[in-house]
Amino acid sequence: MMSSRLIKNRFISPPPSSALFLLMAITFLLYSCGDNPFLVPTTSSTVLTVSKAGTGTGTVTSSPSGINCGTTCNASFTQNGDVTLTATADNKSVFTGWTGSGCSGTDTCLLTLTSDMAVTATFDTNATSSAVLTISKTGTGTGTVTSSPSGINCGPTCDASLTQNTEVILTAVADANLVFVSWTGGGCSGKDPCSLTLTSDTTVTATFATNTTPVVIDSKQIPVGDGKLLTTVPTEVGYLYVCYIPDSPNLPGKAPWINTTTGTWDQTIKPSVRGSVAWPFNFAVNGPTHYVSGNGLPKHRTGTFGIAITDPVYKYDKNPNTIAAEPIAWQLPLAPVVASSPTCTHGGAIGVLLSGARIFNASDADGRDAVAHEVQDACDGHPQSKSIYHYHNLTRCSDQTDIAGQHSPLVGYVADGFGLFGNQGEKGVALTNADLDICHGHTHAIALDGGLPADSYHYHATKEFPYTVGCFRGTPAVGIH
Ligand SMILES: [Zn+2]
Ligand SMILES: [Zn+2]
Repeated sequence: MMSSRLIKNRFISPPPSSALFLLMAITFLLYSCGDNPFLVPTTSSTVLTVSKAGTGTGTVTSSPSGINCGTTCNASFTQNGDVTLTATADNKSVFTGWTGSGCSGTDTCLLTLTSDMAVTATFDTNATSSAVLTISKTGTGTGTVTSSPSGINCGPTCDASLTQNTEVILTAVADANLVFVSWTGGGCSGKDPCSLTLTSDTTVTATFATNTTPVVIDSKQIPVGDGKLLTTVPTEVGYLYVCYIPDSPNLPGKAPWINTTTGTWDQTIKPSVRGSVAWPFNFAVNGPTHYVSGNGLPKHRTGTFGIAITDPVYKYDKNPNTIAAEPIAWQLPLAPVVASSPTCTHGGAIGVLLSGARIFNASDADGRDAVAHEVQDACDGHPQSKSIYHYHNLTRCSDQTDIAGQHSPLVGYVADGFGLFGNQGEKGVALTNADLDICHGHTHAIALDGGLPADSYHYHATKEFPYTVGCFRGTPAVGIH
């Protein structure tokens, strides 16, 4: 402006013609150089910054190049120039849109960079994507792994395509007499069901092992078997299959050896009926014919029954019954076989021990755990209302004693003709319910009737309910009482 005014002033006093030409030339040059001939003309730039948001991942690029975000999330561009941004979601993510600087939607965004600008690209995880979960099993044992939601049943189906980024819970169950050790892989550990979120294809390993550390039943904390009576074939071990369940019991006062809080009883403090009464022993099993005969009285001494009012256990058990002979004349099955389905046990004799006295099942007349609730003598027996002396578990007074490291000897016969053995299984391992089937037995090679070892079904006594027999695996002989 100053220069224009100056030039105008020069025209006020007319100059010589040569000077006039020069001025006109200068004026032309000045005008052609722009408005402000005193500033250096430069190309301005602006900064475009891209941010990423959301749970997913992806890349933003620019055209012209400069942004590759990725790692390069800001760049300088010519001011007032046009830049096109393109968002590309990674696999299993989705681009959900632009925000900032006028960008929106999920198409490319065209910006005119009038000043520094910032744009945010949001990527989210694609909930409908799937990932493959694979289960690998290892170890010396076997078992099954299942998933929730379903898909894995390994078993036969050890991999499945499951919805990505949702929770999957894996559960492992060892086969009978085996143990599930632990999980590895996929963030899983320990032996509880594993919860994992499948962000990508994942392999989880389940280790099963043979049970090298058998459960030991603590004599001070034996689970009370109340409520473990079933009138249908049990589907798991530790139950007593009975033909009927007695009416609701008339429960007596609390016995100090029963812990109602933990539901256990303490064998080490449970008292016994006093006394030391000897009986005439008369018992025989004819090996070839499986004919069992006797007077039902035990070889060992018994307590004094009915329980005397002076006996300290009288306040817990007032059993008034006396002991008397009750002949045994039973023809047991000659060659017992496992029946197609088990048979329920009834009240009364379910077998006999080589001591000469009968075994009853583990229930008392009120449907309770007879071993836990009733008070027996020091040989674990007592009489019922017909004076029959009987046990509900294995007597401590058996002549057939266990030898360390060896399978228990035969201690008696069950009404279906199968043998009853003590607590020790093969190699002398103390057995628990978990080692046995629903009827409280198992099959392996044992020597019977003086013969050579051969695979045979047989029952075992345990320290826990149902103590001797859970159900008849074979067909019980008639006339057993
Ligand atoms: Zn009884
Ligand atoms: Zn055995």
